[in-house]
Amino acid sequence: MVQQVQPIFILPEGAQRTIGRDAQRTNIMAAKLVAETVRTTLGHKGMDKMIVDSLGDITVTNDGVTILEEMNIEHPSAKMIVEVAKTQEEEVGDGTTTAVVLAGELLKNAEELLDQDVHPAVIARGYRIAESKAQGILNQMAEKITSNNEEALVQIAQTAMTGKGAEYAKETLATLAVKAVKMVAEDNSYVDRDNIKIEKRTGGSVEDSELIKGIVIDKERLSSNMPRVIKNARIALIDREIEIKKTEIDANIEIKAPEQIQAFLDQEENMLKAMVEQITSTGANAVLCQKGVDDIAIHFLAKKGVYAVRRVTESDMKKIAKATGAKIVTNLKDLSKEDLGAAGTVEGRKVGDEEFTYIMDCKNPKAVTLLIRGGTEHVTSEIERAMTDAVGDVAAALKTGMVVAGAGAPEIELALELKKFADSLSGREQLAVQAFANSMEIIPKTLVENAGLDPIDTMTMLRAAHSKKQKWAGIDVFTGKVMDAWKRGVIEPLKIKTQAVASAAEVAVMVLRIDDVIASSGSKEDKMPRMPQGAGMGDMGY
Ligand code: ADP
Ligand code: MG
Repeated sequence: MVQQVQPIFILPEGAQRTIGRDAQRTNIMAAKLVAETVRTTLGHKGMDKMIVDSLGDITVTNDGVTILEEMNIEHPSAKMIVEVAKTQEEEVGDGTTTAVVLAGELLKNAEELLDQDVHPAVIARGYRIAESKAQGILNQMAEKITSNNEEALVQIAQTAMTGKGAEYAKETLATLAVKAVKMVAEDNSYVDRDNIKIEKRTGGSVEDSELIKGIVIDKERLSSNMPRVIKNARIALIDREIEIKKTEIDANIEIKAPEQIQAFLDQEENMLKAMVEQITSTGANAVLCQKGVDDIAIHFLAKKGVYAVRRVTESDMKKIAKATGAKIVTNLKDLSKEDLGAAGTVEGRKVGDEEFTYIMDCKNPKAVTLLIRGGTEHVTSEIERAMTDAVGDVAAALKTGMVVAGAGAPEIELALELKKFADSLSGREQLAVQAFANSMEIIPKTLVENAGLDPIDTMTMLRAAHSKKQKWAGIDVFTGKVMDAWKRGVIEPLKIKTQAVASAAEVAVMVLRIDDVIASSGSKEDKMPRMPQGAGMGDMGY
């Protein structure tokens, strides 16, 4: 009898598997496509992207991480590159395009080594060695900065806003960003970016943007019988409802006669009145409640001349606490005078159709609001992103106290120094370190290309300047000539560069080490990021 051989399936039905060079090639291609997509937005003269989502909403932006998030990329290794942008955004708040473009170039150059039969593990090792050397070079070339260096801080904010829609009001906005950061900085160095609220209002011009010493929330006062403005506000922050919980009542009350209903309602009213009195007896004249406030309580609050708002978000409550020095209280019985915060003014203001509550003129606020104005929604949104970058960069500069000039200068310096370092190595890792060094040049090269200039001449001039020890030689994007980026005030926090290099290298190594992609059926493995026709791979670099 012939024994039947059962085929063995270790993967579920419909699973797709790509192995070895094929897996590497597809992964690298996906990563390069992502990099190529954002590459044209890099720098001063970078172009914008218009992204239309499935609902038809439009985003016009130059911001790397925004583009990648809005694109809804599905390919798994392309997603890994998007993660690089997100990490960069979280860690610094700027430099997202730089990080992604670097990652793409590292993988592109790795692919050439793979074609020459260099083992991916060797490339990965070489990249790690080069990355750690790069960190050393960057730290060595960086300059020190303190919070007293106002001019440099404004230059950092301006550099961050470069190429974004904020260009024409750059000076006003940069000054606001620096003021905001300095106001909330602890010990003149540590800045929690959450303490700077960036709010946008359509209407007016960008120059009308302002720094509010306090917090603006999109909630209106609960009754028109309440005062619209409170001066010398004493603010109670309450994170429980000023209502009687219905469930408590359900359990306890049984009404048998009509007059009991009235008694019950009176009882409820008295309880609410007592709650309001508990609050006002502390001297509070403004109440910000995180939960609901009963209509009867609103009535009593209004009668006492209190400005009250309900359903304030938890994050706003925390910011208001920081701005006014108030303590958030849960149990009304515990509320005391000491828990109240102070603000020069609490005011309800109508902007457009909506009413907002301004808690402002706080003394020494540790949380502030940047109020962005602009003619249209698209303008304010792009300025909001530019301001986020500016705030992030100034904060990052203060935090580490180290900055570099930009305009491609650090990347050319890295390329040059890493090539020297590669010469000191032997074996195949040398090739990988060289590839890493060459990859750094993609940043200045892209800045030149995006300015519509010829990269070959400019790159040659840049390399020459750096080999003559001009470490801040960068690109003048208007003339294509070499300039001293430091003297021209193109300044960025060191952290942008160190983080970009670190996460680009990390993801490149991670992608390189994958030689087997197993996708169960129904996963999106086979979907590549969609690209406009003609924007193929051929023009990545030259
Ligand atoms: P990212 O998302 O990486 O921050 P950007 O579009 O903000 O991308 O571009 C940042 C790059 O532009 C940096 O390399 C920076 O040095 C460069 N850059 C900014 N301002 C200037 C300028 N005035 N001249 C030349 N390069 C500039
Ligand atoms: Mg930037």
